[in-house]
Amino acid sequence: MNELPALLGTAERTQTPGTSCCRVASTKLAAVSATPVMVTLADPPATVTTPLLPKTARPVTFKAGPPASFSASTPTPLAPVARPCTPLPAEVAVPTTPSPPPEPPEPAADVLRPVISPDTAFFWEGTARHELRIQRCGGCGTLRHPPGPMCPVCGFARPEYDVAAGTGHVYSYVVHHHPPVPGRQLPIVIVLVQLTEGVRMVGELLGTDPERVRIGLPVRVTFVEVDGDLTLPAWQEDQP
Ligand SMILES: [Zn+2]
Repeated sequence: MNELPALLGTAERTQTPGTSCCRVASTKLAAVSATPVMVTLADPPATVTTPLLPKTARPVTFKAGPPASFSASTPTPLAPVARPCTPLPAEVAVPTTPSPPPEPPEPAADVLRPVISPDTAFFWEGTARHELRIQRCGGCGTLRHPPGPMCPVCGFARPEYDVAAGTGHVYSYVVHHHPPVPGRQLPIVIVLVQLTEGVRMVGELLGTDPERVRIGLPVRVTFVEVDGDLTLPAWQEDQP
């Protein structure tokens, strides 16, 4: 408590620079009652010892003193990094959990998709428009199916196409029971259709009991839209 006048005087001079020592002495008691912060600084012991340290350890002592001054104009420079950053060896590297692979886009339907080549693109573009296109030689006009890059008759290599009428008859067929076909319930009927234009084309016969299928059965083309990218041609019995 003997240091109280000096602390109060220090605080008083800090707050109001230029105040005389006599005024500090006369306002000492008033300052104590009006400013409890000053009492807090002086009334507890000026030294605080950390109680949790073991007895063999050297006690850490904090001494009350004037507040440290900080200046924005003189920032404390950062200490340089003394230890270079060395990468961890591979055997102690923290394992990272691999992120799961992105989910592949689900197909619109579980079907066997045709391989579309430059020679067959016109055919599938036609089915998308519900047209049954037949390749025609640009030189001699011979129709042919399946499509190919060159006419087997004259060798001309710039084919064109016609749009078929979509009618024909069953030239041959097979009832498929096994093996399983993705996305299909068996049995299914696969027919080889003789088109009215003369070429033959393979496809599925829909809506006809396998027991009723026969060679010469008149059929008409129909189109099955699998998804936005694939439309398959198929066949139905052509009712007179
Ligand atoms: Zn030709």
